[in-house]
Amino acid sequence: MADWDAESDEESPSKPLSALPEWEPVRWGSSSGQKVSSSVRSGKEERQSPSRENWRSRADGSRGRGREYRPGGGGGGGGVAWEFRKSRESGSVPLCFRLDNSVVGTVIGRGGSKIRELEDSSGSKIQIVKGEYESDVKIFGSDETQKRAKILIDDLVKRYGERPERDSKFCGRDSTSGYSNSAQVASSANGPRRPIINWASIRENKEKYEAMKWAGLPPVEKMFYRESKVVASRSREEVAQWRKENNNIICNDIKEGEKRAIPNPVVTFEEAFQYFPEIMDTIQKVGFLKPTPIQSQAWPIILQGLDLIGIAQTGTGKTLAYLLPGFIHLDSQPIPRAQRGGPGMLVLAPTRELALQVEAECSKYKYKGFKSICIYGGGDRKGQINLVTKGVDIIIATPGRLNDLQMNNIINLKSLTYLVLDEADRMLDMGFEPQIMKILIDVRPDRQTVMTSATWPDGVRRLAKSYLKDPMMVYVGTLDLAAVNTVEQKVVILPEEEKRAYTRHFVDSLKPQDKIIIFVGKKLIADDLSSDFSLQGVPVQSLHGNREQCDREQALDDFKKGKVRILVATDLAARGLDVQDVTHVFNFDFPRNIEEYVHRVGRTGRAGRTGESVTLVTRKDWKFAAELINILERANQEVPEELLLMAERYKQHKMKLDNEKDMAKPRGRWHRDF
Ligand code: AMP
Repeated sequence: MADWDAESDEESPSKPLSALPEWEPVRWGSSSGQKVSSSVRSGKEERQSPSRENWRSRADGSRGRGREYRPGGGGGGGGVAWEFRKSRESGSVPLCFRLDNSVVGTVIGRGGSKIRELEDSSGSKIQIVKGEYESDVKIFGSDETQKRAKILIDDLVKRYGERPERDSKFCGRDSTSGYSNSAQVASSANGPRRPIINWASIRENKEKYEAMKWAGLPPVEKMFYRESKVVASRSREEVAQWRKENNNIICNDIKEGEKRAIPNPVVTFEEAFQYFPEIMDTIQKVGFLKPTPIQSQAWPIILQGLDLIGIAQTGTGKTLAYLLPGFIHLDSQPIPRAQRGGPGMLVLAPTRELALQVEAECSKYKYKGFKSICIYGGGDRKGQINLVTKGVDIIIATPGRLNDLQMNNIINLKSLTYLVLDEADRMLDMGFEPQIMKILIDVRPDRQTVMTSATWPDGVRRLAKSYLKDPMMVYVGTLDLAAVNTVEQKVVILPEEEKRAYTRHFVDSLKPQDKIIIFVGKKLIADDLSSDFSLQGVPVQSLHGNREQCDREQALDDFKKGKVRILVATDLAARGLDVQDVTHVFNFDFPRNIEEYVHRVGRTGRAGRTGESVTLVTRKDWKFAAELINILERANQEVPEELLLMAERYKQHKMKLDNEKDMAKPRGRWHRDF
């Protein structure tokens, strides 16, 4: 089950990264007892020490740490937590203690090394092993050397060791544990006094600045849900049964600490929007019969003002799941729209196509005359600026272009109170994280945030943890293609050089009313294949990132309207594309991962229709065979014998490689590196 626990081990964003002091490990001459200070940065030693030559620095970790090593916990008394441990490596007993990574982390962490060792000619050695939040420090050497080191460090900690306040959430230790602040330690070394960094004051100033930045903004109204009696009266069993039968919905409260009750789903539009007649009118106009599973479960959560993570693919109705509550949210803010000085809702989307599609959904409902605008790179920048400056309520944007307008002070994001990160996994795949970070600096922190993603990898978890507040999570129609039982999936195994002939044969066999997307791996192949078809008199359009935006829009329009019935596309079209009458997906090239396969296949069999997918597999795709078999089996599809053999061959090949790697590893207990 997904939870924050599975978070990646990246540096916590709450840590002050920019102002890290240079770390100054305390050193002592083994014979003279002379103390010197050294700093280590970026894997290089910068020394002023008279005994510099005596020290060897090793960052390769080849004689790294014993994994079982855990230095003692609470040191208490404001000092360092000391512990002597027998080292299996050398037989000597090292002196061990632990420092906060905010003190040493960047110093030893850069350059990829997690272990650093400093050794002198007498055999005395300091070893630092960087952990997730703390670094373990071991001092090896004679009793005399260790005693001296201990006295020095204790003394420094006593004199200067005002321990940095700890954020127990991230450090996982209580605040009585001993930590020394390196800037302070450094200041007492024999070298010149260094300025003491006052972390408490830095943090306080940051909070003050934040408070100033958001001062004067009107409060945000978020709660618009009144659970109907019918919804409230559903028993646990009924709800569980309903979730099971509706794409096996799984809900989760991600808030740390005490968990909240997950609201019961609504199964009719009235149950969600009975107090919002205009919304009901809009729904009736478009003629939808009932909410989709994601809508049923997301609406009661979002309408309560909670942040939500929706793990759902395009085609599940996720756009309306966040748009309708967004309309209500915008309409119900205490400050009238005209006086807000900027838009109230922002939807960030990974591609122009998806952004345009969300905008189309937005305009379709025309709720209370809200003005929406789509801002995307490649589009008419001037025109977009004109529209923004005239005043809009809803912005749907790709991160790059929005960041551009933000940096140029063309757009005010402070008025936003409702934020959507749509297809977050795709945005990360496309490298938009820096732009998202910059954009969100200017969006008030007490906003409501909804995030959708088709998958839940570490990067998305990290994003959610950084930008959503105590969210609830709803999984719908996961990557389990068993849920997409409307698509018949065929796999054809053939040599690379036969792919074109097979494709031509397949296209020739299509019926006049069929509509097909041919997915290829490269833009060049998309161009190549579509010009082949054109030369043969088969009308096609192509869609890929190298085409001008107007050509891309034209291609999509032609395909949607049926002017052409074949679209040759790269994975640009795998997600977000909502063309409901696609009858076939044809994978000319196997996608770069199995998730993309699922997205591609999901372009057909939509809105209650059935569809067919054909996937060409060649020898070079053998590494995907096992995952593909898994998907086919779960969707009750036929698995070709040859695919099974291919998976088996790849398994054997992998085992052989792993064995060879194992044999090549150095023996002994230190070979298990990070
Ligand atoms: P999405 O997953 O947001 O891309 O939505 C896919 C398609 O489903 C869009 O064309 C929506 O207009 C449509 N849709 C959204 N909600 C419903 C619903 N409750 N019933 C039928 N179709 C819907």
